[in-house]
Amino acid sequence: MLLFRPHLFTRVGLVFFCTLAHNRNMTNTAYSLDSVKALYARPLLDLVYEAASVHRANHDPQDMQMCTLLSIKTGGCAEDCGYCSQSIHNNADLEKEILMKTSDVLEQARKAKESGSTRFCMGAAWPRVLDGRAFDRVCDMVKGVSDMGMEACCTLGMLTEAQAVRLKEAGLTAYNHNLDTSREFYDKVITTRSYDERLDTLKNVAKAGIAACCGGILGLGEREEDRISLLHTLANLNPQPESVPINVLVPVAGTPLEKQKPIDIFEWIRCIAVARILMPKAMVRLSAGRLTISKEAQALAFMAGANAIFTGEKLLTTPNPEKDADYGLLAELGLKPRAPYKDGPEPAEKQADAA
Ligand code: SF4
Repeated sequence: MLLFRPHLFTRVGLVFFCTLAHNRNMTNTAYSLDSVKALYARPLLDLVYEAASVHRANHDPQDMQMCTLLSIKTGGCAEDCGYCSQSIHNNADLEKEILMKTSDVLEQARKAKESGSTRFCMGAAWPRVLDGRAFDRVCDMVKGVSDMGMEACCTLGMLTEAQAVRLKEAGLTAYNHNLDTSREFYDKVITTRSYDERLDTLKNVAKAGIAACCGGILGLGEREEDRISLLHTLANLNPQPESVPINVLVPVAGTPLEKQKPIDIFEWIRCIAVARILMPKAMVRLSAGRLTISKEAQALAFMAGANAIFTGEKLLTTPNPEKDADYGLLAELGLKPRAPYKDGPEPAEKQADAA
């Protein structure tokens, strides 16, 4: 059930909206909630068409960013995220693992690079970053990945501005910190931290000059209004996220959401298209849940502006399509892996510039 009738959002209005979207990064014009609602209510194929136009105006439509995500410390997390196998509050069948050795992480990064990934993301199941030896090791990992010429990304929980600066100095390209869902629905999924704490970490990341990778999870039991609210919040972050992961819940046995019904695939496409129009410069990233989505639906998602995927058998602890299936799909669709650092100089060059 859509909240607004499509005819309320005329073609002229949409052209204006898209122009606004194209200029968003320069003007910092805030999107109103009503404008996002109206966009979301567009007929789906019109929305996909417009999103494809915005995508083509801002990106090479053949480019697909290939990213590998590795869990460098697994399980035992004190947060109570209702979807997560790694929370101590849930009863998922998961083997905990301590922080990996730096050399083992870098070996995985090297393999990912050989497989065609240009971004390597390291995830630790921590509620927040604590200063000390473990964080020192993560900084070493970031430096090692960056030195390989790969874009380095981390997801480590909440962090301070000083910690963000250290990661930046180590060569971090992006920090992943998802908002997950709307502010209104947030406490139905997570109670051990607040929405504002999430936003505070995103501010610290921005102050350190690190790009934010920030998106959400669809299918948590949220309503359409929640998806709109999430997209509205993401689009109004300043600066906007460089990367917007659109996850689909993978229900895990032993978590409170294990029986959650899957989200309608067209709702997923709609969210991708709206994200693309609202955040024209961002990488819109298909993330968890892709294994259960047909290649035809993924192709429609790419048409709607998705231009990044995760490769590798696992996304932290959830299954992911195999490499051959991904490269086969790219070949069938005439897409190609995106080069690293396409939108900016590599860290070494940046340092040379600053000297
Ligand atoms: S999603 Fe992240 S913060 Fe939440 S329980 Fe899992 S590992 Fe911890």
